[in-house]
Order: sequence, then C-alpha cells, then structure tokens
Amino acid sequence: MNKNSSNKMALAPNTSKKKETVCIFGTGDFGRALGHKMIQSGYSVVFGSRSTQTSSLIPKDAEVLSHAEAAQKAAIIIIAIQRQHYNFLTPLAEILHGKVLVDVSNNLKINQYPESNAEYLAQLVPGAKVVKAFNTVSAWALQSGTLDASRQVFVCGDDMEAKQMVMDIVRALGLTPLDKGSLLAAQEIENYPLQLFPMWKFPILLSLGLVTFFFFYCLIRNVIYPYVYEKKDFSFFIAISIPNRICPILALTLLALVYLPGVLAAIIQLYRGTKYRRFPDWLDKWMLCRKQLGLVALAFASLHVLYTLVIPIRSFVRWRISSRTVSQALNNETEPLNTTNAWLSDSYLALGILGFFLFVLLGITSLPSVSNNVNWREFRFVQSKLGYLTLILCTAHTLVYGGNRFLRPSSYVWYLPSAYMLSLIVPCIVLVVKFVLLFPCLDKPLTRIRQGWERNPQYSE
Ligand code: NAP
Repeated sequence: MNKNSSNKMALAPNTSKKKETVCIFGTGDFGRALGHKMIQSGYSVVFGSRSTQTSSLIPKDAEVLSHAEAAQKAAIIIIAIQRQHYNFLTPLAEILHGKVLVDVSNNLKINQYPESNAEYLAQLVPGAKVVKAFNTVSAWALQSGTLDASRQVFVCGDDMEAKQMVMDIVRALGLTPLDKGSLLAAQEIENYPLQLFPMWKFPILLSLGLVTFFFFYCLIRNVIYPYVYEKKDFSFFIAISIPNRICPILALTLLALVYLPGVLAAIIQLYRGTKYRRFPDWLDKWMLCRKQLGLVALAFASLHVLYTLVIPIRSFVRWRISSRTVSQALNNETEPLNTTNAWLSDSYLALGILGFFLFVLLGITSLPSVSNNVNWREFRFVQSKLGYLTLILCTAHTLVYGGNRFLRPSSYVWYLPSAYMLSLIVPCIVLVVKFVLLFPCLDKPLTRIRQGWERNPQYSE
C-alpha cells in the first residue's frame, strides 16, 4: 500500500487516545489496508505472517511477527486470509482459545461452500469467538477513503461481547456497524458482495423484453406496412419516431407495474381474509423491486421528454409543415383554427408536463438520502398518493393523445392497434381495480385485515 495515500483518507477519526492492540493475520492487500486505517484510528497493530520480514508496503508503525507470537499480543485477531488457507489455524487452536477471531473473507461464487467461511472458521477453532465483519468493505476503499458507498459494515456472531468489541472498532474507523444477528447470518453477508444489482435484474430484463416487442411492433406498423402498401420509405423512423413511441409506452407500463403488485396483494388479502399468510414468492420478489421498476420507468419518461424536445428541428417534421403550407397556398385554402383540437393538444401536453414533474418527484424521494429524511407517513404519502396521481396523469396524457383515434379503422394496421393503445392496458386495469378497492365494502375489511384482523384464524400459517 502506498504510504502517501494515508493522507488522502477522508474519514480519519480521532487518534488522540491510544486504543488496544489488534492483531491481523495476513499481510495481503486487505490486511495492510485495514492495518493502516487502524493505526490512523489510534490502534496498535501487530501482523501475524508466514514471513516476519517487514516490507515497505507494511504500515511503518506496525509490528510483523509469526502467527503464534502475534496472536498472543491481542484479544482480537482479524483473519485477512483466503478461506482455503484456514487450515494453518488448527495447530494454533490453543493460542487462539478465547480470542475474538474476525472473519473478513469473501468467496468467488454465491453459496460456494455448504457452510459460511465464518462457520467453517468456528469449526476449525472451536474455542474462539468468531465474528463476521468487514467483508463488504474493499481494500481500495479503505486505502483511498472513498467509503461513501460502503460505509455500512455488516457484523454477525454468536458471542455478544465479541460482537460489541468488533462493532466498537468499526465505529472507531468511521464506519457504521449493522448487527445482523448470530453467525447463521454469515452466509448471507458473504453472498452480499457477490450479488450484481439483484433488485435490478427483473426490471432490466422486463424492460429489454418490452423494448424488443414494441420495437418490432412499431417497425411493422410504421415502416414495413407503408413500404409494402405505399412503397414509402420511412426507415428513418427507427432513429427518433419509434424510440419516442417506445419510451412513453415503457414509462407508463412500468409505472403501472409498480402499483399492480400492491393491488394484487390487496385482492389476495381480501380473498384469504388475513395478512398473516405469505404471498406467493413471485409477488414478494415483484414487490421488492418496485423502486427499481419505478426508476427504470422514470428513465424512459426522461428519454421521451428529450425525444419530444427535438421534434420541431426534425427534417421530416419541417418538411411536413412546409409542404402543408405550400399545398394550402397552391389551393388557395386556409385551415381555420380548430379550438377543440387546440384544447386537446394543450391538455395532452399539460398532463404530460405535470405527470413528468410528479414522476421526477417520486424518483427523488426514492433516493436514500431523501427518504431517510422523511418519516414513514410522509414516504407513504409520496410513494402511494403522489404515485397514483402520477399514474392517473400519465394515463390521461396518453388517453388524450389518442383521443378518438381508436375509433378510426385507419388506426388498425394489419389488425394491429396503435402501440399507445397497448400501453393503456396495464395502467387502466390498475386504476380501475384500485378504484373498486376504494369502495367502503372492500376498503373497510381490507383496512381491518391490515390491522391484524383475521376472517378464519385457523387457516393462517
Ligand atoms: P491477498 O492479497 O491474497 O492476501 C492474503 C494473505 O494471506 C497473504 O498476503 C498471505 O499473508 C496470507 N496467506 C496466503 N497463503 C497463505 C497460507 N497458505 N497460509 C497462511 N497464510 C497465507 O488477499 P486479500 O485481498 O488481502 O484478501 C484477504 C481476505 O480478505 C480474503 O479472505 C478476502 O476475501 C478478504 N477481503 C478482501 C477484500 C479486498 O478488497 N481485497 C475486501 C473484503 C474482504 P502473509 O504472506 O503475511 O502470510
């Protein structure tokens, strides 16, 4: 580790009081980074290593001893070594008896071993108090001080006192410990850094599927059909027109999908007459990724806004306007202002602007830094009441955009309705069902169920 980097550490805590000695087994990247941070925080650090020769990489205030010698100097030993080398600890079991062993290790794959690394360590050294911690913090983050994204340190262990000692160290390093309970939680903590945006998988895959479907749908209707029947080449629609159709469709559909699971959950609870039975797994998972679905929807809505802003400068649009003007001039015609159309167009735009504004507000309140500053009731108000209002405005925006177009036979190309009509299916279902659920004959029993009342208590799990 570069020693000069130590002055870059943004989170250097108070070092005025000398704290206890901590032993770190392993002088690899993580051991050195943690050692450096601990020395900065006022701890004495002694490394246990296979080689007692110090190198320029090792923090200069730290001692390097053999494992056995180093272990005797501290009550807490951090095992900064890969799990596959843990068997060297077996002969040290006697020295390690009663010590707090901190397992920081990670694996290469989720559930790589039948038991967690921390539980394996506890089996190898039965007399030690094993605590799992620090595995979600990277050596690089410790070294550079860029810990903003990973300030939380998950801690778990069976011995309360040992866990407390480790949590004190975590706090002293300027990090936030999060007690995850007994050592049984270690597997989950070890899997955590291996997960790649788990909550984003479903929203992203769903969006990709919908984008592909609507792309080909619009391609058939707006490019292939005019080419086949009128020999018109509208292939340039692929650049802006089609994306500007897909984006609002995705934004509206995904926003509706944020609220659909809540409506389904209400129906299930009403049907079962209890809230104490688990929802099906697929519904649980769907509920958990609602925030991500909403943020993807917001991204599509933002793209729709950008695509819409460039409409007036598009060559095709300018050509269409000028050719209509020329044709009117040649035919000596003037088109009178149609106030109904003007009203519809302005209302459609106004609904879109208001819908997008609330959409952005929803997105902002879902950011942790904002949601942490509002209470539960305020958060529920924004996400539920304002969320539904956003859905109503965006659905109305699409309905007014379509007007009575769905009545015209020309809107149906090869029997396919306009894409915007498809985008209205899910939101309309959600809004109608939600409206029905507000009827007192359904709302009252649902509220009672949510307060713990059960229709048939003997059937609940
Ligand atoms: P590393 O750079 O490979 O260092 C591992 C150290 O283990 C070596 O430097 C060596 O120290 C010791 N070691 C290697 N083979 C050994 C053996 N056969 N017997 C005894 N000791 C042996 O690995 P690392 O990146 O520091 O990671 C160490 C642990 O921290 C791992 O479990 C890892 O999952 C975890 N971790 C790492 C990071 C990170 O960002 N790197 C983040 C979170 C958790 P000596 O030469 O001093 O004996």
